[in-house]
Amino acid sequence: MTQTGENGGDAANHPFLWSERAAPARRAMLTEILAQVSMEALQGDTLDAVLQRIVDCVGRSLPVAIASIILLNDARTHFIQEVWFGTIDLELPAELPWPVELGVAGRCVQSGVAVLISDVDADPDYIPGNRAVRSEYLVPILHRARLHGVLNLESTSADFFTPDVCATFDAIAAQIAGAVHLARVVAELELANRKLERLSMSDGLTGIANRRCFDRQLEEQWQRHLREDQSLALLLVDVDCFKALNDVRGHVFGDECLRALAGLCAEVGDSVHALVARYGGEEFVLLLPGAGLQDGQRLAEHLCRRVGQLAIAHPDSPVAAYVTISIGVSAAQPDDRRSSWSLVVAADHALYAAKAAGRNRVMVQV
Ligand code: GH3
Ligand code: MG
Ligand code: MG
Repeated sequence: MTQTGENGGDAANHPFLWSERAAPARRAMLTEILAQVSMEALQGDTLDAVLQRIVDCVGRSLPVAIASIILLNDARTHFIQEVWFGTIDLELPAELPWPVELGVAGRCVQSGVAVLISDVDADPDYIPGNRAVRSEYLVPILHRARLHGVLNLESTSADFFTPDVCATFDAIAAQIAGAVHLARVVAELELANRKLERLSMSDGLTGIANRRCFDRQLEEQWQRHLREDQSLALLLVDVDCFKALNDVRGHVFGDECLRALAGLCAEVGDSVHALVARYGGEEFVLLLPGAGLQDGQRLAEHLCRRVGQLAIAHPDSPVAAYVTISIGVSAAQPDDRRSSWSLVVAADHALYAAKAAGRNRVMVQV
């Protein structure tokens, strides 16, 4: 585990401006490093990349043997990640995650304030990573009241951590806190967006895909089947006399019936890798990739039988004593002259014919 930059590492050989006379120049240099870190904090795409750039920037610019950022988990019980620059030539006690009580980093987290150790050999909590290290400075990475972890700096010089150097590291830790906060907010937003995207594509009552999702998938599948020169079938399912069911058994029962039918459509559709969606009120649609009219008809007849087997009592149906469905089936080999919509129109015509012929049946496009 060695990663030492051109200037980083050995304090004795570093062109750092140690003397009191050089204090103004040193401060100017520290300000410059701080400005660089601020820039790095805004550059990377992922949090890991940002943190790595920051420790690299610190390690390359200053005579530190180790510069690392150790991040905590959300519960703040463990250190879960360390991003580092420098030379670690000793075995560390354990793989991450480390319990938060461990080492000087643990002390820093628990006290919530910076820790300066001018002689690491005299500190019982110090866990050596590099045998040449003499002093260590740790700063909590704190954004408002939230503690994200610790910035850890180790030097081979006992008197490297002067007040102005420490003040620079305090400011760098604040920059890191901002970067971590920003990255976590972005991650939370992305998660929320994905959840919203999922919600916007599913039907609230039945949990299956909704019309928006279906429209998108239909177009995608149409284009794919066009490219692959394959046929695509569609089943448009409509519950028979559903208004009468609502009237006689109530809307809550009607909703339960829709959930049961959606579940059944999903089960039957899954077996042939179909996209199953709620198309509208009491209408469902199944889109069958790579299928022809006969495949669609076979599946539709199977679905009709399965709905019959559910035996959901419908006291006011002129068709049967139980809830029944009608299905219109269409299929097409996509071409440039028609749109995907033609598949729906053809299935709708077939469905209309099924209703006109007495319901509880399957009709295919003519
Ligand atoms: P048909 O056999 O000709 O299809 O007759 P139908 O009664 O099923 O058709 P119609 O279009 O007259 O009625 C559909 C009914 O579906 C009317 C509407 O109240 C009901 N509906 C639509 N969405 C929901 C829903 O989310 N829950 C419940 N309970 N009913 C719904
Ligand atoms: Mg309808
Ligand atoms: Mg209906």
